[in-house]
Amino acid sequence: MLGLMQEWPLLCHKLIDHAARQHGEREIVSRSIEGPIVRTTYAEIHRRALRVAERLDRDGFGLGDRIATLAWNTARHIEAWYGIMGVGAIYHTLNPRLFPEQIVWIMNNAEDKAIFVDLTFMPLLEKIAGAVKSVRKVIVLTDEAHMPQTALPNVVAYEEWLDEVDCAFTWKTFDENTAAGMCYTSGTTGDPKGVLYSHRSNVLHAMIAAMPDAMGLSSRDTILPVVPMFHANAWGLGQSGPMIGARLVMPGCKMDGASIYELLDTEKVTFSAAVPTVWLMLLQYLEETGKKLPYLNRVVIGGSSCPRAITAKFQGNYDVEVIHAWGMTEMSPLGTLCTMKPGYAGLEGDARLDVQGKQGFPPFGVEMKVTDDDDKELPWDGKTFGRLKVRGPAVARAYYGGIGSEQFDEEGWFDTGDVAHIDPSGYMQITDRAKDVIKSGGEWISTIELENLAVAHPDVAEAAAIGIRHSKWGERPLLVVVRKPGREPTRADILTFMDGKVAKWWMPDDVAFVGEIPHTATGKIQKTLLRRQFSDYRLPTD
Ligand code: AMP
Repeated sequence: MLGLMQEWPLLCHKLIDHAARQHGEREIVSRSIEGPIVRTTYAEIHRRALRVAERLDRDGFGLGDRIATLAWNTARHIEAWYGIMGVGAIYHTLNPRLFPEQIVWIMNNAEDKAIFVDLTFMPLLEKIAGAVKSVRKVIVLTDEAHMPQTALPNVVAYEEWLDEVDCAFTWKTFDENTAAGMCYTSGTTGDPKGVLYSHRSNVLHAMIAAMPDAMGLSSRDTILPVVPMFHANAWGLGQSGPMIGARLVMPGCKMDGASIYELLDTEKVTFSAAVPTVWLMLLQYLEETGKKLPYLNRVVIGGSSCPRAITAKFQGNYDVEVIHAWGMTEMSPLGTLCTMKPGYAGLEGDARLDVQGKQGFPPFGVEMKVTDDDDKELPWDGKTFGRLKVRGPAVARAYYGGIGSEQFDEEGWFDTGDVAHIDPSGYMQITDRAKDVIKSGGEWISTIELENLAVAHPDVAEAAAIGIRHSKWGERPLLVVVRKPGREPTRADILTFMDGKVAKWWMPDDVAFVGEIPHTATGKIQKTLLRRQFSDYRLPTD
């Protein structure tokens, strides 16, 4: 017998309908690409998203078409997303930090039909457009007055393009499992892989993200999504924000410490989310200027492991709660968040920081387990680490085009490629990427743990641990270190600092100092490149 409740497809444009009706006057503030701060509302965004949809429809774009966006976080980008989804097309966020050849590859793989582009990225688009034959229209996210000179064909200014409507459009309707958005994974190895979100998965993920023990969002919040919309859906904030009617502050293209501080302060932001590098820049700015954060209540930090020092400073010096989070493009992206269950709620000081070093537990809607290489489930003892596998309604079940299918099994488990352990309270801690883990004499050494420990040294700006070939042990750890400006720690200083804090056999065999550590387009340490850089390195112990 079926239930007798209404069929109400979970479609993304219902999020913006709800925002316009219930929170219509709530503001969306953007640092525009042209320069000034501009203010709009959910009601206005809703009106303009309908115009985007009408124009796309009139230009012949519709169900299933991939429409690229090469843009920063602004209100216009949000409108474009909802307009695209509202005709059944698929927003496809491009990461401008990738190499141009990678962007060309991705656009050709996705066969993007049109592109919304920020002024900042016009030179990039001009460089690559000739190699992408599928694009029929270029919509520049600005007005006629700011339009650049360009030789590209079929280019229009967004504002004038939007003006040519009769405002009689209503959203298209379709099945909730229809594709809504697309994002390619960073692809540190092999070709990038396309993740295809559905309307249903986006709506469910928005609900999951907003829950109290996840990001804990409410209509009273002012949210600053520093994490770009092109980095895994801005961690769901482009959907959760309208869903709960939070005020949004969009940072545009300025992500340095001073610019982020300015928005946090003048717009009285209560909640924000970004990768550790962004927070390091902000904390450095605060230390230099002596400024405080009187309005900011909590920050979500993820994308890579959050160093203990960041959590300690936010909480100790600025009274801002840190929520360490882990996720992946394939998971829409939230997987786990480190909020405090009752058993941990009373912890203070170092004991609390110890828990917050973990990536946390999954909200309802994400299941996880750790297994050995034979797919045998490992105990939740907080020690035994293995392959982290996940499943849920906002987790990918395949990649676009069917590549990479070996990562998905028949029971729906997706092998994340991360290595982790889970403690008896259900808190997961990432110890490595499977391909980065150092295998010494058959045992595994966690590079993340070595790195977290090394960056706790007051003179270390950044550290990366990699495995170097060793004739006796197979591999041994080399610690690659960037010194803080003006500081000169030696190999011995760093090793003495680490000694006793990890197992003896985990200690790096050597320390190499470099000026810079390479990063991927989403801000992660690029271990493949680093390993190549050190491929001829001989350890003194070998
Ligand atoms: P992406 O899909 O680009 O967001 O990358 C996802 C990957 O980033 C994960 O599989 C992890 O390896 C890494 N990652 C994300 N968040 C964290 C975190 N809090 N700690 C450690 N690694 C993380």
